[in-house]
Amino acid sequence: MGKGVFQVPQAVNEPVKSYAPGTPEREAVLKAYKELYNSKVEVPLYIGGEEIKTGDTAPMNPPHDHQHHLGDYHKASKEHVEKAIKTALEAREKWANLEWEQRAAVFLKAAELIAGPYRYKINAATMIGQSKNIFQAEIDSACELIDFLRFNVEYMTRIYEEQPESNSDAWNRLEYRPLEGFVYAVTPFNFTAIAGNLPSAPALMGNVAIWKPSDSQVYSAQVIMEVFKEAGMPDGVINMVMGDPKMISDVLIGHRDFAGLHFTGSTTVFKNLWKQIGENIHNYRSYPRIVGETGGKDFIIAHPSARPKQVATAISRGAFEFQGQKCSAASRVYLPKSMWEEVKNYVVEDVKSFKMGSPEDMSNFITAVIHEASFDKLAKFIDAAKNDSDAEIVVGGNYDKSKGWFIEPTVILTDNPKYSTMCTELFGPVVTVFLYEDDQWEETLKLVDDSEYALTGAILSQDRYAAAEATKALQNAAGNFYINDKPTGAVVGQQPFGGARGSGTNDKAGSILNLYRWISPRTIKETFVTPTDYRYPFLGE
Ligand code: NAD
Repeated sequence: MGKGVFQVPQAVNEPVKSYAPGTPEREAVLKAYKELYNSKVEVPLYIGGEEIKTGDTAPMNPPHDHQHHLGDYHKASKEHVEKAIKTALEAREKWANLEWEQRAAVFLKAAELIAGPYRYKINAATMIGQSKNIFQAEIDSACELIDFLRFNVEYMTRIYEEQPESNSDAWNRLEYRPLEGFVYAVTPFNFTAIAGNLPSAPALMGNVAIWKPSDSQVYSAQVIMEVFKEAGMPDGVINMVMGDPKMISDVLIGHRDFAGLHFTGSTTVFKNLWKQIGENIHNYRSYPRIVGETGGKDFIIAHPSARPKQVATAISRGAFEFQGQKCSAASRVYLPKSMWEEVKNYVVEDVKSFKMGSPEDMSNFITAVIHEASFDKLAKFIDAAKNDSDAEIVVGGNYDKSKGWFIEPTVILTDNPKYSTMCTELFGPVVTVFLYEDDQWEETLKLVDDSEYALTGAILSQDRYAAAEATKALQNAAGNFYINDKPTGAVVGQQPFGGARGSGTNDKAGSILNLYRWISPRTIKETFVTPTDYRYPFLGE
């Protein structure tokens, strides 16, 4: 702390721009899109102040136009990862001891750079590299990332303000130290904001981080590094390395100073990393913090009293926005039989009206899925649904990989509540509907609850008693529970995000709870009049 008890600017959510026809933001983002699309980039490793081009490269291609070459990113060797550790630990000396307001200023500046001069570049990079339509890019790479940065700064000061009781003899203080070592941040392809948040939340609290972005998100990850640099982030505080995830994890998790894992991605990868940490537990200086937000099988359940049009809209938006590639995307739906005809008609009408194609054409609601492996997996499940006796395709069911990884938004109907697509996370524009008998509400709540995941879920009901019953019966079925809404679209500062069971450690990214994981408090008791005699009064004659 410098010479003052400083207050940070109050965090506010970044307003979402509309990008409606004729707006200046639409023109600006399309210009940025064209510029990026028609140039080539080389993404280096960022280790300390160095941008390292290793020569061992992999290409980057837009999912909606996979033959177009955006450039290449460089991959790390074992030696580069070891260098990143050494560099991060050297940077830690100064960063961990820097006054908090200096750290805060770096992240507040980064937020404003994204809100202003970098907004269209980061949105265009996300549209191109991850195939998001402009609205999905804006709410992710601009607004959510800005919100993470602003709100985390405010939460940090709230933590620092939390101090123990003192009395006239002794002053008790809590000092919120960073962890002793480095944090390993591993991020998914689907949110540029998560990619930016996972290394920066620990760094804000005084930690140093080594960040491994997803191969499919490197294109916008580079813009994040550019922003951090421009914001004055000292060299070595956040280092970015790409390459073989197994090798990178072996080196980082195998190191004595590994102090924490900040992960978002699939359940299997996280469980394997946890296991690897367990196997190394005797080698560490401290017990590492393990934070992971993982897969989901998110639900919508409608009570017979719900409004069919509202239910249909929750499905159309909740299941298909960003091609169903949100961890919160609705992928299993439970409807009363009496409601099906009406909901089906609305959803089919919606799906048939969706336009699919490149995000550059802003009339497209749907674009491509992230890569070929995802495309192939989705096509396999769709084909199975066409053949299985307990499933049928209601709408969609086509796919085409000739230009991009395009999967038609697909609704499957099943009479088997344990049908594969009711249980397996597919991570694409496929939603499965199960119809229950109208008088089987309680039994259906039990079915919904019976899942290995517990990330998001929504109940739609006009009946207050039914809504209350579902809220109680499904209390462990979702970390983010929605009443009369779709199960997606959590906003930082408003709906802290995360789930339990197979969905994660539920440390709620973008909330104060997450920041607590990146500190190791030290209690300092200072006594003013120090005793000079060991004898207590009870020892007297
Ligand atoms: P993924 O698990 O394939 O990859 C995530 C990250 O892990 C990537 O950086 C990847 O390179 C890395 N990785 C893969 N194998 C690894 C290994 N052996 N060692 C170390 N790292 C390894 O996930 P994805 O496809 O990028 O993202 C989709 C998944 O993420 C879905 O399961 C989704 O539900 C989940 N997700 C969850 C949340 C949440 O908040 N719960 C948010 C976003 C995404």
